[in-house]
Amino acid sequence: MKFSLTDTTALNQDRSSPQAVTPTGQVHPASQVQHTGNALNTKTLKQIFQLSPIGMTMLDLDGHFLSANQAFCSAIGCLEPDLLARSFGEFTHPEDVSLLRALGEELLQGNRQHFQIETRHWNTNRDPLQVSLTGTLVRDSHQRPLCFLIQVVDLTERKWMEAQLKHHAFYDLLTGLANRFLFINRLEQALVRLDRHRDEQCAILFLDLDRFKAINENLGHTIGDQLLVALSKRLESCIRRCDTLARLGGDEFAILLEDIVGLEDVTTVCDRIQAVLKTPFKLSNQEVFSSISVGVICTTNSTNSTKSASDLLRSVDTALSRAKAQGGACHTIFEETMHQRATALWEIANQSQLAIERQELNLRYQPIIHLATGETVGFEALLRWNHPQHGSISPAEFIPVMEETGVITTIGHWVLKEACYQVCQWQAELLDIPLSININVSPKQFAHPQLVEQVKTVLKETCLAPGQVRLEITENAVMQSLELAKEVLNRLKQLNVSICIDDFGVGYSSLSRLQQLPIDTLKIDRSFIQSINAAGENIEIPRSIIDLASNLGIDVVAEGVETATQLHQLQSLGCPKVQGFYFAKPLTPDAALRFVRDTQPNKATKLPDYL
Ligand code: C2E
Ligand code: CA
Ligand code: CA
Repeated sequence: MKFSLTDTTALNQDRSSPQAVTPTGQVHPASQVQHTGNALNTKTLKQIFQLSPIGMTMLDLDGHFLSANQAFCSAIGCLEPDLLARSFGEFTHPEDVSLLRALGEELLQGNRQHFQIETRHWNTNRDPLQVSLTGTLVRDSHQRPLCFLIQVVDLTERKWMEAQLKHHAFYDLLTGLANRFLFINRLEQALVRLDRHRDEQCAILFLDLDRFKAINENLGHTIGDQLLVALSKRLESCIRRCDTLARLGGDEFAILLEDIVGLEDVTTVCDRIQAVLKTPFKLSNQEVFSSISVGVICTTNSTNSTKSASDLLRSVDTALSRAKAQGGACHTIFEETMHQRATALWEIANQSQLAIERQELNLRYQPIIHLATGETVGFEALLRWNHPQHGSISPAEFIPVMEETGVITTIGHWVLKEACYQVCQWQAELLDIPLSININVSPKQFAHPQLVEQVKTVLKETCLAPGQVRLEITENAVMQSLELAKEVLNRLKQLNVSICIDDFGVGYSSLSRLQQLPIDTLKIDRSFIQSINAAGENIEIPRSIIDLASNLGIDVVAEGVETATQLHQLQSLGCPKVQGFYFAKPLTPDAALRFVRDTQPNKATKLPDYL
């Protein structure tokens, strides 16, 4: 028998039935219906059925639609007449069709009164629907099965929200990669597996973008975000599907390499990562160069194989710090001595006053050469630490720690005095050769309220001529607060101190912003010089810096010149000054003095080779 609630004949016919279906689909004894008599006549029932916010439909015993209310029709996406004679199965996931059939059978056999389950469907556009479905069998007055009443509550949106919440708990919103939580979870699972299969190995890579803060600050957060997304795609191309790439936060990423044979597998991935970053990223019509530092730990090393997940993560973080201290754009494999060294660095950074007293600190001087004449026009003072236990420690390692602990201001003051006194000593011997001295000033030192006063006192004590002292400050230190920088630099200029922007080009700040500051010299970062080759490739950045600076009347020094090719390319660009291992490594004060004499064109017995 087929019927529709739009012409409620079937229900009308069955007025004598001991049971009646309420608009919510529950089956009540007919007596109750009769009690409410006039109020719940067929017309009212029909209206309630139609207007119910719960989707309702009646199916014949073969699952074909007999009628459907508005809520059901709008969920399924068509009008009631278009549904009639079609089967509910057409809109239902095949696995759920068999389940519904089995449950329908149970209703027919009287094993249960109704059922409620979650089922999967499609609407007429084939969009997925997830519903909570209640099924009831309607019988006639003789208890013969008449039809099924199906009620559905749409759960699609709720399920989607739940899935989203679950996704957000495990995945990074920006890049779609695994997040820190999922990464640690996978690592812990991998360690459990390794425990059972002793011959298997895994490795963890911690990755941190070099100078990401500068990109964000100078090119904006939108480009910063685009870079992180583009980077994650490139990183994905470097690993296998079974490996886990995660974004731990900010510009920190991590990779879990499972089932590796040896350290070579890991270094291959590291090399691949550095290789894919050689090409610049094109973001919003801008070319952005980026490099990455990588810390590595591998369970192939027996000490590491017994470590917990959190120990491994701490160790790999130490390896990453080491890669950063080495100048970035490289990978460093964790060694046990690194922890000891990191702890020692903190200890010795706090012993800096003692180091000055014990004369463990000293300065080396790297010549700055005037390219047209070959003359040495000055030196850059570079700090060295000879530690009684740890030997010679690189400034790239201890200066960041000193910056963090704040002792850099004490050390910086010492460097300032030492370097200025040294120039005075040289000048006493080289009366007719004016030499300038470049002194590095760290960001914290630059922001220190005593800096200008300290410089003033040293200048008074040493009687150096105007312009002989040049302070090197990185563009990032200046850009941290342009207003403060302007004020400090103007006060320094009043003391006749020259200002040199160090590592220029890597900070992404525009020259037009720097133009607001009293700058005398730009030092082109050595990464741009070292990528110049014989074919004249990668010369564009040095060229534009030299051209712009020359138009603005600013002096330029190219640092890190190592080869004759780089020198010749810089000569052809008209670069005024150069510095680098090609001419000299940082020298002791005596060697520096000899170097000046040897490179004086009118006094030297032989012209330097590079001229
Ligand atoms: P920086 O100011 O960029 O100094 C140049 C660094 O490049 C020096 O490293 C120098 O030895 C190295 N270098 C020079 N020519 C070449 C070359 O041709 N090839 C290569 N590969 N490297 C070259 P160093 O002495 O290890 O200093 C590292 C950094 O430590 C310095 O980078 C500077 O940021 C910091 N630093 C050094 N001395 C001081 C100091 O007295 N105060 C402060 N605040 N920082 C300092
Ligand atoms: Ca410098
Ligand atoms: Ca530099």
